[in-house]
Amino acid sequence: MGRGVGSKVVTAMDKPLQESGCTFCGSCLDVCPVNALVEADRSRKGREWEYDRVPSVCLLCGNACDIAVSTKDDMIVKINSYGEEGSAERYICAYGRFGFDCLLADTRLTSPMKKQDGKLVEISWEEAIDIASKELKKAGSNAGFVATGSITNEDAYAIKKFATDIVKTKNYDTTVSLYGDKETLLSASPNMDSVDMIVVVDLNPDQWKRVLPALDALVRKAANGGAKLVTINANETGLGSVADVELIGSETELLKSFIKAAIDKGVTAPPDLASAVSNAAVSEDIEKAATLFAAAKYPVIFTSPAMYTATVNVGLLKGSVVSVPVESNAKGVLLMGLTTEGKTYKEMVNGATSLLYVIGEIPVKSAPKVDFLIVQTTHLTDLAKQADLVLPAAAFLEDDGSIVDYLGNLKFICQAIEPPGSAKANTDILADLAKAMGAEIAEVSDDELDNLTKYEFKCKVSPFEKKAGFDVKVDEMIEMLNSSVLNGTRLFWLKNVEKAAV
Ligand code: SF4
Ligand code: SF4
Repeated sequence: MGRGVGSKVVTAMDKPLQESGCTFCGSCLDVCPVNALVEADRSRKGREWEYDRVPSVCLLCGNACDIAVSTKDDMIVKINSYGEEGSAERYICAYGRFGFDCLLADTRLTSPMKKQDGKLVEISWEEAIDIASKELKKAGSNAGFVATGSITNEDAYAIKKFATDIVKTKNYDTTVSLYGDKETLLSASPNMDSVDMIVVVDLNPDQWKRVLPALDALVRKAANGGAKLVTINANETGLGSVADVELIGSETELLKSFIKAAIDKGVTAPPDLASAVSNAAVSEDIEKAATLFAAAKYPVIFTSPAMYTATVNVGLLKGSVVSVPVESNAKGVLLMGLTTEGKTYKEMVNGATSLLYVIGEIPVKSAPKVDFLIVQTTHLTDLAKQADLVLPAAAFLEDDGSIVDYLGNLKFICQAIEPPGSAKANTDILADLAKAMGAEIAEVSDDELDNLTKYEFKCKVSPFEKKAGFDVKVDEMIEMLNSSVLNGTRLFWLKNVEKAAV
Protein backbone atom coordinates (compact mmCIF):
# COMPACT_ATOMS: atom_id res chain seq x y z
CA MET A 1 0.00 0.00 0.00
CA GLY A 2 1.23 3.51 -0.76
CA ARG A 3 4.12 4.59 -2.94
CA GLY A 4 7.83 5.22 -2.62
CA VAL A 5 9.16 5.64 0.91
CA GLY A 6 5.56 5.66 2.18
CA SER A 7 4.81 2.16 0.82
CA LYS A 8 4.19 -0.61 3.35
CA VAL A 9 3.09 -4.23 3.53
CA VAL A 10 -0.52 -4.36 4.79
CA THR A 11 -3.48 -6.70 5.08
CA ALA A 12 -6.52 -6.22 2.85
CA MET A 13 -8.11 -2.86 3.83
CA ASP A 14 -5.14 -2.27 6.17
CA LYS A 15 -6.93 -3.98 9.08
CA PRO A 16 -5.11 -5.37 12.12
CA LEU A 17 -4.03 -8.98 11.45
CA GLN A 18 -6.55 -10.47 13.87
CA GLU A 19 -9.40 -8.77 12.01
CA SER A 20 -8.10 -9.56 8.53
CA GLY A 21 -8.93 -13.26 8.23
CA CYS A 22 -5.27 -14.12 8.90
CA THR A 23 -4.92 -17.51 10.57
CA PHE A 24 -1.47 -16.66 12.02
CA CYS A 25 -0.07 -19.74 10.31
CA GLY A 26 3.10 -17.83 9.49
CA SER A 27 3.29 -19.31 5.97
CA CYS A 28 4.20 -15.84 4.72
CA LEU A 29 7.49 -16.31 6.63
CA ASP A 30 8.15 -19.43 4.54
CA VAL A 31 7.52 -17.73 1.21
CA CYS A 32 9.14 -14.34 1.78
CA PRO A 33 12.28 -14.61 -0.41
CA VAL A 34 14.28 -11.77 1.18
CA ASN A 35 13.61 -12.24 4.90
CA ALA A 36 11.66 -8.97 5.01
CA LEU A 37 9.15 -10.98 7.07
CA VAL A 38 10.75 -12.81 10.01
CA GLU A 39 9.49 -14.08 13.36
CA ALA A 40 9.25 -11.17 15.82
CA ASP A 41 11.43 -12.91 18.43
CA ARG A 42 14.24 -13.93 16.07
CA SER A 43 16.40 -10.86 16.60
CA ARG A 44 19.77 -11.57 18.25
CA LYS A 45 19.30 -15.32 17.67
CA GLY A 46 21.89 -15.59 14.92
CA ARG A 47 21.82 -15.59 11.13
CA GLU A 48 20.20 -18.19 8.86
CA TRP A 49 23.59 -19.63 7.88
CA GLU A 50 24.50 -20.23 11.52
CA TYR A 51 21.55 -22.56 12.10
CA ASP A 52 21.49 -26.35 12.01
CA ARG A 53 18.39 -27.60 10.21
CA VAL A 54 16.75 -30.89 11.24
CA PRO A 55 13.85 -32.40 9.24
CA SER A 56 11.11 -33.79 11.47
CA VAL A 57 7.34 -34.05 11.88
CA CYS A 58 4.89 -32.03 13.97
CA LEU A 59 2.97 -34.40 16.25
CA LEU A 60 0.40 -31.91 17.58
CA CYS A 61 -2.58 -33.05 15.49
CA GLY A 62 -3.74 -35.71 13.06
CA ASN A 63 -2.15 -33.97 10.09
CA ALA A 64 1.46 -34.76 11.12
CA CYS A 65 3.04 -32.06 8.94
CA ASP A 66 6.65 -32.19 7.76
CA ILE A 67 8.71 -29.56 9.53
CA ALA A 68 12.28 -28.22 9.41
CA VAL A 69 13.59 -27.32 12.85
CA SER A 70 16.35 -24.69 12.92
CA THR A 71 18.56 -24.77 15.99
CA LYS A 72 21.50 -22.81 17.37
CA ASP A 73 23.43 -23.60 20.56
CA ASP A 74 20.96 -26.44 21.39
CA MET A 75 18.00 -24.04 21.25
CA ILE A 76 15.20 -24.12 18.69
CA VAL A 77 15.21 -20.81 16.83
CA LYS A 78 12.40 -21.41 14.35
CA ILE A 79 10.28 -24.06 12.69
CA ASN A 80 9.32 -23.97 9.02
CA SER A 81 7.24 -26.16 6.77
CA TYR A 82 9.27 -28.94 5.15
CA GLY A 83 6.68 -30.10 2.64
CA GLU A 84 7.97 -30.30 -0.91
CA GLU A 85 8.16 -26.94 -2.69
CA GLY A 86 4.90 -26.39 -4.58
CA SER A 87 3.21 -29.49 -3.08
CA ALA A 88 -0.22 -29.28 -1.48
CA GLU A 89 1.35 -30.50 1.76
CA ARG A 90 3.68 -27.49 2.14
CA TYR A 91 1.92 -25.89 5.10
CA ILE A 92 2.13 -25.77 8.89
CA CYS A 93 -0.18 -23.95 11.28
CA ALA A 94 0.56 -21.62 14.19
CA TYR A 95 0.72 -24.56 16.64
CA GLY A 96 3.45 -26.31 14.70
CA ARG A 97 5.36 -23.14 13.87
CA PHE A 98 5.19 -21.16 17.10
CA GLY A 99 4.28 -23.70 19.82
CA PHE A 100 7.86 -24.78 20.50
CA ASP A 101 8.38 -22.06 23.12
CA CYS A 102 6.38 -24.31 25.49
CA LEU A 103 9.57 -26.41 25.78
CA LEU A 104 11.01 -23.68 28.00
CA ALA A 105 7.84 -23.04 30.03
CA ASP A 106 8.03 -22.84 33.83
CA THR A 107 5.80 -25.92 33.97
CA ARG A 108 8.36 -28.04 32.09
CA LEU A 109 9.34 -31.15 34.03
CA THR A 110 13.09 -31.53 34.43
CA SER A 111 13.36 -34.03 37.27
CA PRO A 112 11.36 -37.03 38.59
CA MET A 113 9.06 -36.22 41.52
CA LYS A 114 7.20 -38.24 44.16
CA LYS A 115 4.25 -37.31 46.31
CA GLN A 116 5.35 -36.73 49.90
CA ASP A 117 3.04 -35.30 52.57
CA GLY A 118 0.61 -34.28 49.83
CA LYS A 119 3.26 -32.40 47.84
CA LEU A 120 5.42 -33.34 44.86
CA VAL A 121 9.12 -33.29 45.71
CA GLU A 122 12.05 -33.81 43.35
CA ILE A 123 13.90 -37.12 43.57
CA SER A 124 16.69 -38.86 41.67
CA TRP A 125 16.04 -41.18 38.72
CA GLU A 126 17.39 -44.11 40.80
CA GLU A 127 14.75 -43.54 43.45
CA ALA A 128 12.00 -42.96 40.86
CA ILE A 129 12.81 -46.17 38.97
CA ASP A 130 13.01 -48.10 42.27
CA ILE A 131 9.56 -46.83 43.37
CA ALA A 132 7.95 -47.43 39.98
CA SER A 133 9.36 -50.93 39.53
CA LYS A 134 8.24 -52.00 43.04
CA GLU A 135 4.73 -50.61 42.52
CA LEU A 136 4.45 -52.21 39.06
CA LYS A 137 5.56 -55.59 40.46
CA LYS A 138 3.00 -55.26 43.22
CA ALA A 139 0.17 -54.43 40.81
CA GLY A 140 1.13 -57.05 38.16
CA SER A 141 -1.88 -57.96 36.03
CA ASN A 142 -3.89 -55.24 37.79
CA ALA A 143 -1.67 -52.48 36.40
CA GLY A 144 -2.89 -50.41 33.47
CA PHE A 145 -1.08 -48.33 30.83
CA VAL A 146 -2.66 -45.49 28.86
CA ALA A 147 -0.95 -43.29 26.29
CA THR A 148 -1.87 -40.74 23.67
CA GLY A 149 -2.01 -41.43 19.93
CA SER A 150 0.84 -38.98 19.32
CA ILE A 151 3.56 -41.18 20.77
CA THR A 152 6.00 -42.72 18.27
CA ASN A 153 5.85 -46.26 16.90
CA GLU A 154 8.91 -47.04 19.02
CA ASP A 155 7.15 -45.79 22.16
CA ALA A 156 4.04 -47.85 21.36
CA TYR A 157 6.15 -50.96 20.79
CA ALA A 158 8.05 -50.47 24.06
CA ILE A 159 4.86 -49.85 26.09
CA LYS A 160 3.22 -53.00 24.76
CA LYS A 161 6.32 -55.15 25.32
CA PHE A 162 6.84 -53.71 28.79
CA ALA A 163 3.20 -54.22 29.78
CA THR A 164 2.77 -57.73 28.38
CA ASP A 165 6.21 -59.31 28.83
CA ILE A 166 7.47 -57.65 32.01
CA VAL A 167 4.54 -56.34 34.06
CA LYS A 168 2.34 -59.18 32.72
CA THR A 169 -0.80 -57.15 32.24
CA LYS A 170 -3.25 -57.05 29.34
CA ASN A 171 -4.38 -53.52 30.20
CA TYR A 172 -2.78 -51.13 27.68
CA ASP A 173 -4.69 -48.70 25.53
CA THR A 174 -4.54 -45.23 24.00
CA THR A 175 -6.69 -42.17 23.38
CA VAL A 176 -7.13 -43.48 19.82
CA SER A 177 -9.83 -45.81 21.16
CA LEU A 178 -11.95 -42.70 21.86
CA TYR A 179 -12.45 -42.05 18.13
CA GLY A 180 -11.44 -45.11 16.13
CA ASP A 181 -10.08 -48.63 15.82
CA LYS A 182 -8.26 -50.76 13.25
CA GLU A 183 -11.40 -51.24 11.20
CA THR A 184 -12.17 -47.52 10.99
CA LEU A 185 -8.69 -45.97 10.89
CA LEU A 186 -6.56 -48.11 8.61
CA SER A 187 -7.30 -46.76 5.16
CA ALA A 188 -5.87 -46.05 1.72
CA SER A 189 -2.66 -44.16 1.03
CA PRO A 190 -3.45 -41.87 -1.91
CA ASN A 191 -1.09 -39.91 -4.14
CA MET A 192 -2.29 -36.38 -3.46
CA ASP A 193 -0.50 -34.95 -6.51
CA SER A 194 -2.83 -36.89 -8.88
CA VAL A 195 -6.09 -35.85 -7.24
CA ASP A 196 -8.69 -34.24 -9.50
CA MET A 197 -11.63 -34.40 -7.08
CA ILE A 198 -11.99 -34.35 -3.29
CA VAL A 199 -15.03 -35.41 -1.31
CA VAL A 200 -15.04 -34.51 2.40
CA VAL A 201 -17.45 -36.54 4.55
CA ASP A 202 -18.29 -35.83 8.21
CA LEU A 203 -15.20 -33.71 8.73
CA ASN A 204 -14.81 -30.02 9.45
CA PRO A 205 -11.13 -29.15 9.06
CA ASP A 206 -10.66 -25.45 9.76
CA GLN A 207 -7.51 -23.31 9.56
CA TRP A 208 -9.08 -20.48 11.56
CA LYS A 209 -10.08 -22.73 14.47
CA ARG A 210 -6.91 -24.83 13.98
CA VAL A 211 -8.80 -28.07 13.68
CA LEU A 212 -6.83 -30.29 11.28
CA PRO A 213 -5.75 -27.04 9.59
CA ALA A 214 -3.26 -28.62 7.20
CA LEU A 215 -6.03 -30.78 5.74
CA ASP A 216 -8.14 -27.65 5.25
CA ALA A 217 -5.20 -25.95 3.51
CA LEU A 218 -4.51 -29.03 1.37
CA VAL A 219 -8.14 -29.33 0.22
CA ARG A 220 -8.40 -25.60 -0.55
CA LYS A 221 -5.13 -25.65 -2.46
CA ALA A 222 -6.26 -28.64 -4.53
CA ALA A 223 -9.60 -26.91 -5.22
CA ASN A 224 -7.81 -23.70 -6.24
CA GLY A 225 -5.68 -25.80 -8.56
CA GLY A 226 -8.77 -27.11 -10.37
CA ALA A 227 -9.78 -30.21 -8.37
CA LYS A 228 -13.54 -30.45 -7.84
CA LEU A 229 -14.78 -30.36 -4.25
CA VAL A 230 -17.90 -31.88 -2.70
CA THR A 231 -18.64 -31.77 1.03
CA ILE A 232 -21.11 -34.05 2.83
CA ASN A 233 -21.85 -33.00 6.40
CA ALA A 234 -24.64 -32.78 8.94
CA ASN A 235 -24.01 -29.01 9.26
CA GLU A 236 -22.51 -26.15 7.28
CA THR A 237 -18.70 -26.11 7.20
CA GLY A 238 -16.04 -23.66 6.07
CA LEU A 239 -14.93 -26.01 3.31
CA GLY A 240 -18.56 -26.37 2.24
CA SER A 241 -18.68 -22.64 1.53
CA VAL A 242 -15.94 -23.00 -1.12
CA ALA A 243 -17.10 -26.38 -2.48
CA ASP A 244 -18.56 -26.97 -5.95
CA VAL A 245 -21.38 -28.77 -4.17
CA GLU A 246 -22.15 -28.63 -0.45
CA LEU A 247 -24.49 -31.40 0.69
CA ILE A 248 -25.98 -30.90 4.18
CA GLY A 249 -28.09 -33.50 6.00
CA SER A 250 -27.83 -37.08 7.21
CA GLU A 251 -24.41 -38.18 5.96
CA THR A 252 -25.41 -41.82 5.57
CA GLU A 253 -28.51 -40.95 3.48
CA LEU A 254 -26.51 -38.48 1.39
CA LEU A 255 -23.84 -41.11 0.73
CA LYS A 256 -26.51 -43.57 -0.48
CA SER A 257 -28.01 -40.96 -2.81
CA PHE A 258 -24.58 -39.90 -4.08
CA ILE A 259 -23.68 -43.52 -4.94
CA LYS A 260 -27.07 -44.13 -6.56
CA ALA A 261 -26.67 -41.02 -8.74
CA ALA A 262 -23.09 -42.00 -9.69
CA ILE A 263 -24.27 -45.49 -10.72
CA ASP A 264 -27.06 -43.89 -12.79
CA LYS A 265 -24.33 -41.90 -14.57
CA GLY A 266 -22.57 -45.09 -15.60
CA VAL A 267 -20.03 -45.55 -12.78
CA THR A 268 -19.58 -49.29 -12.17
CA ALA A 269 -20.48 -50.65 -8.73
CA PRO A 270 -20.55 -54.11 -7.11
CA PRO A 271 -24.09 -55.54 -7.59
CA ASP A 272 -24.84 -55.75 -3.85
CA LEU A 273 -23.91 -52.08 -3.43
CA ALA A 274 -26.11 -51.09 -6.38
CA SER A 275 -29.07 -52.93 -4.84
CA ALA A 276 -28.42 -51.40 -1.38
CA VAL A 277 -28.83 -47.87 -2.78
CA SER A 278 -31.45 -48.53 -5.45
CA ASN A 279 -34.23 -46.77 -3.53
CA ALA A 280 -32.26 -43.66 -2.56
CA ALA A 281 -33.73 -40.29 -3.57
CA VAL A 282 -31.58 -38.09 -5.82
CA SER A 283 -31.81 -34.29 -5.57
CA GLU A 284 -30.49 -31.71 -8.03
CA ASP A 285 -27.39 -31.06 -5.90
CA ILE A 286 -26.68 -34.80 -5.62
CA GLU A 287 -26.96 -35.03 -9.42
CA LYS A 288 -24.41 -32.25 -9.74
CA ALA A 289 -22.02 -33.88 -7.27
CA ALA A 290 -22.37 -37.28 -8.99
CA THR A 291 -21.69 -35.73 -12.41
CA LEU A 292 -18.39 -34.36 -11.09
CA PHE A 293 -17.57 -37.74 -9.54
CA ALA A 294 -18.38 -39.65 -12.73
CA ALA A 295 -16.01 -37.38 -14.67
CA ALA A 296 -13.17 -37.56 -12.11
CA LYS A 297 -10.15 -39.75 -12.85
CA TYR A 298 -8.71 -39.92 -9.33
CA PRO A 299 -11.06 -38.80 -6.56
CA VAL A 300 -9.95 -38.90 -2.93
CA ILE A 301 -12.54 -39.08 -0.17
CA PHE A 302 -11.59 -37.84 3.32
CA THR A 303 -13.81 -39.00 6.15
CA SER A 304 -14.03 -39.28 9.93
CA PRO A 305 -13.24 -42.70 11.46
CA ALA A 306 -16.88 -42.98 12.61
CA MET A 307 -18.10 -42.65 9.00
CA TYR A 308 -15.26 -44.62 7.43
CA THR A 309 -16.96 -47.98 6.87
CA ALA A 310 -20.02 -46.30 5.33
CA THR A 311 -17.82 -44.07 3.13
CA VAL A 312 -15.77 -47.05 1.90
CA ASN A 313 -18.80 -47.78 -0.30
CA VAL A 314 -17.94 -44.68 -2.38
CA GLY A 315 -14.38 -45.96 -2.77
CA LEU A 316 -15.76 -49.19 -4.23
CA LEU A 317 -16.90 -47.10 -7.22
CA LYS A 318 -13.55 -45.36 -7.69
CA GLY A 319 -10.83 -43.41 -5.89
CA SER A 320 -9.32 -43.74 -2.41
CA VAL A 321 -11.01 -43.29 0.96
CA VAL A 322 -8.87 -41.84 3.77
CA SER A 323 -9.90 -41.99 7.43
CA VAL A 324 -8.55 -38.88 9.22
CA PRO A 325 -7.62 -39.33 12.90
CA VAL A 326 -7.42 -36.67 15.61
CA GLU A 327 -3.84 -37.57 16.56
CA SER A 328 -0.65 -37.78 14.53
CA ASN A 329 0.25 -41.44 15.03
CA ALA A 330 -3.16 -43.04 15.55
CA LYS A 331 -2.51 -45.42 12.67
CA GLY A 332 0.98 -46.37 13.84
CA VAL A 333 -0.16 -46.97 17.40
CA LEU A 334 -2.85 -49.37 16.18
CA LEU A 335 -0.43 -51.12 13.81
CA MET A 336 1.98 -51.55 16.72
CA GLY A 337 -0.79 -53.43 18.52
CA LEU A 338 -1.25 -50.97 21.37
CA THR A 339 -4.93 -51.86 21.68
CA THR A 340 -6.06 -53.35 24.92
CA GLU A 341 -6.79 -57.02 25.49
CA GLY A 342 -8.03 -56.15 28.97
CA LYS A 343 -9.45 -52.89 30.36
CA THR A 344 -10.18 -50.10 27.89
CA TYR A 345 -8.80 -46.56 27.99
CA LYS A 346 -12.14 -45.26 29.30
CA GLU A 347 -12.30 -47.90 32.02
CA MET A 348 -8.73 -47.28 33.12
CA VAL A 349 -9.01 -43.50 33.37
CA ASN A 350 -12.07 -44.14 35.53
CA GLY A 351 -10.10 -46.24 38.00
CA ALA A 352 -10.52 -49.82 36.75
CA THR A 353 -6.96 -50.86 37.68
CA SER A 354 -5.05 -50.63 40.96
CA LEU A 355 -2.10 -48.83 39.33
CA LEU A 356 -2.35 -46.50 36.34
CA TYR A 357 0.68 -45.53 34.28
CA VAL A 358 -0.07 -42.56 32.00
CA ILE A 359 2.25 -41.66 29.12
CA GLY A 360 1.73 -38.26 27.47
CA GLU A 361 -0.82 -35.50 27.98
CA ILE A 362 -4.13 -37.37 27.98
CA PRO A 363 -7.43 -35.41 27.96
CA VAL A 364 -8.18 -36.08 31.64
CA LYS A 365 -7.98 -33.45 34.36
CA SER A 366 -8.84 -35.28 37.57
CA ALA A 367 -7.01 -38.35 38.75
CA PRO A 368 -8.82 -41.70 38.80
CA LYS A 369 -9.22 -43.44 42.15
CA VAL A 370 -6.30 -45.85 41.91
CA ASP A 371 -3.81 -47.01 44.55
CA PHE A 372 -0.88 -45.60 42.62
CA LEU A 373 -0.73 -43.12 39.72
CA ILE A 374 2.39 -42.67 37.58
CA VAL A 375 2.39 -39.82 35.04
CA GLN A 376 5.19 -39.68 32.48
CA THR A 377 4.97 -36.47 30.49
CA THR A 378 6.71 -33.24 29.49
CA HIS A 379 4.91 -30.65 31.63
CA LEU A 380 3.38 -30.45 35.08
CA THR A 381 -0.19 -30.97 33.87
CA ASP A 382 -3.28 -30.97 36.10
CA LEU A 383 -3.13 -34.76 36.11
CA ALA A 384 0.61 -34.84 36.90
CA LYS A 385 -0.02 -32.61 39.94
CA GLN A 386 -2.22 -35.37 41.36
CA ALA A 387 0.19 -38.24 40.61
CA ASP A 388 2.09 -40.31 43.16
CA LEU A 389 5.10 -40.40 40.85
CA VAL A 390 5.96 -38.03 38.00
CA LEU A 391 8.54 -38.99 35.35
CA PRO A 392 9.88 -36.18 33.12
CA ALA A 393 9.75 -37.12 29.44
CA ALA A 394 11.40 -35.67 26.35
CA ALA A 395 9.10 -33.81 23.94
CA PHE A 396 8.89 -34.94 20.31
CA LEU A 397 11.37 -32.24 19.24
CA GLU A 398 13.84 -33.79 21.69
CA ASP A 399 13.47 -37.41 20.59
CA ASP A 400 13.87 -39.74 17.60
CA GLY A 401 11.28 -42.15 16.28
CA SER A 402 8.74 -42.79 13.55
CA ILE A 403 5.02 -42.48 12.92
CA VAL A 404 2.45 -43.49 10.29
CA ASP A 405 0.58 -40.37 9.20
CA TYR A 406 -3.08 -40.05 8.14
CA LEU A 407 -2.12 -40.68 4.50
CA GLY A 408 -0.39 -43.94 5.50
CA ASN A 409 3.17 -42.61 5.08
CA LEU A 410 5.95 -43.77 7.40
CA LYS A 411 7.60 -40.57 8.64
CA PHE A 412 10.64 -40.06 10.84
CA ILE A 413 10.95 -37.79 13.86
CA CYS A 414 14.50 -36.49 14.33
CA GLN A 415 15.84 -35.13 17.58
CA ALA A 416 16.55 -31.40 17.20
CA ILE A 417 17.70 -30.55 20.74
CA GLU A 418 18.50 -32.28 24.04
CA PRO A 419 15.71 -32.64 26.62
CA PRO A 420 16.06 -30.25 29.60
CA GLY A 421 17.39 -31.28 33.01
CA SER A 422 17.19 -35.01 33.48
CA ALA A 423 14.12 -35.55 31.25
CA LYS A 424 14.45 -38.70 29.14
CA ALA A 425 12.90 -40.26 26.04
CA ASN A 426 9.85 -42.47 26.75
CA THR A 427 11.67 -45.55 25.44
CA ASP A 428 14.69 -44.88 27.68
CA ILE A 429 12.50 -44.59 30.78
CA LEU A 430 10.77 -47.88 29.97
CA ALA A 431 14.14 -49.53 29.26
CA ASP A 432 15.44 -48.39 32.69
CA LEU A 433 12.31 -49.73 34.35
CA ALA A 434 12.59 -53.04 32.51
CA LYS A 435 16.20 -53.36 33.64
CA ALA A 436 15.22 -52.67 37.25
CA MET A 437 12.66 -55.46 36.91
CA GLY A 438 15.28 -57.87 35.58
CA ALA A 439 14.44 -57.82 31.87
CA GLU A 440 15.09 -56.01 28.62
CA ILE A 441 12.83 -54.60 25.92
CA ALA A 442 13.96 -55.47 22.39
CA GLU A 443 14.02 -52.60 19.93
CA VAL A 444 11.60 -52.47 17.02
CA SER A 445 13.35 -53.72 13.85
CA ASP A 446 13.61 -51.90 10.50
CA ASP A 447 11.55 -54.68 8.88
CA GLU A 448 8.78 -54.21 11.42
CA LEU A 449 8.77 -50.48 10.63
CA ASP A 450 8.70 -51.08 6.86
CA ASN A 451 5.77 -53.46 7.27
CA LEU A 452 3.75 -50.65 8.86
CA THR A 453 2.97 -49.22 5.42
CA LYS A 454 1.76 -52.58 4.07
CA TYR A 455 -1.35 -52.91 6.16
CA GLU A 456 -4.66 -54.26 4.95
CA PHE A 457 -7.71 -52.05 5.15
CA LYS A 458 -11.42 -52.58 4.82
CA CYS A 459 -12.75 -52.26 1.26
CA LYS A 460 -15.92 -54.29 1.02
CA VAL A 461 -19.57 -53.27 0.80
CA SER A 462 -20.56 -52.10 4.28
CA PRO A 463 -23.74 -50.95 6.04
CA PHE A 464 -24.57 -47.24 5.70
CA GLU A 465 -24.14 -46.52 9.41
CA LYS A 466 -22.14 -44.10 11.47
CA LYS A 467 -20.12 -46.17 13.94
CA ALA A 468 -21.30 -45.55 17.48
CA GLY A 469 -18.94 -44.72 20.35
CA PHE A 470 -16.45 -42.74 18.26
CA ASP A 471 -18.05 -39.30 18.51
CA VAL A 472 -15.52 -36.88 19.94
CA LYS A 473 -15.39 -33.14 19.61
CA VAL A 474 -12.22 -32.92 17.54
CA ASP A 475 -11.51 -29.25 18.41
CA GLU A 476 -11.87 -29.86 22.17
CA MET A 477 -9.82 -33.02 22.06
CA ILE A 478 -6.92 -31.38 20.15
CA GLU A 479 -6.96 -28.51 22.65
CA MET A 480 -6.88 -30.84 25.67
CA LEU A 481 -4.18 -33.08 24.23
CA ASN A 482 -1.99 -30.03 23.63
CA SER A 483 -2.86 -27.79 26.55
CA SER A 484 0.79 -27.48 27.63
CA VAL A 485 1.75 -26.37 24.13
CA LEU A 486 -1.15 -23.95 23.83
CA ASN A 487 -0.20 -22.35 27.13
CA GLY A 488 3.28 -21.53 25.81
CA THR A 489 3.79 -17.77 25.64
CA ARG A 490 3.14 -17.09 21.97
CA LEU A 491 0.09 -19.33 21.45
CA PHE A 492 -1.42 -18.13 24.72
CA TRP A 493 -1.02 -14.56 23.46
CA LEU A 494 -2.55 -15.52 20.13
CA LYS A 495 -5.54 -17.19 21.77
CA ASN A 496 -6.25 -14.04 23.77
CA VAL A 497 -5.78 -11.70 20.81
CA GLU A 498 -8.19 -13.79 18.76
CA LYS A 499 -10.71 -13.92 21.60
CA ALA A 500 -10.58 -10.15 21.95
CA ALA A 501 -11.18 -9.71 18.21
CA VAL A 502 -14.39 -11.78 18.20
S1 SF4 B 1 -2.85 -16.37 6.95
FE1 SF4 B 1 -0.77 -17.14 7.30
S2 SF4 B 1 0.31 -16.68 5.36
FE2 SF4 B 1 -1.55 -15.40 5.39
S3 SF4 B 1 -0.91 -13.45 6.26
FE3 SF4 B 1 -1.70 -14.70 7.95
S4 SF4 B 1 0.13 -15.69 8.78
FE4 SF4 B 1 0.71 -14.95 6.74
S1 SF4 C 1 -1.67 -28.83 11.20
FE1 SF4 C 1 -1.35 -30.16 12.98
S2 SF4 C 1 0.48 -31.33 12.51
FE2 SF4 C 1 0.41 -29.59 11.07
S3 SF4 C 1 1.63 -27.99 12.05
FE3 SF4 C 1 -0.48 -27.68 12.69
S4 SF4 C 1 -0.69 -28.82 14.64
FE4 SF4 C 1 1.19 -29.54 13.63
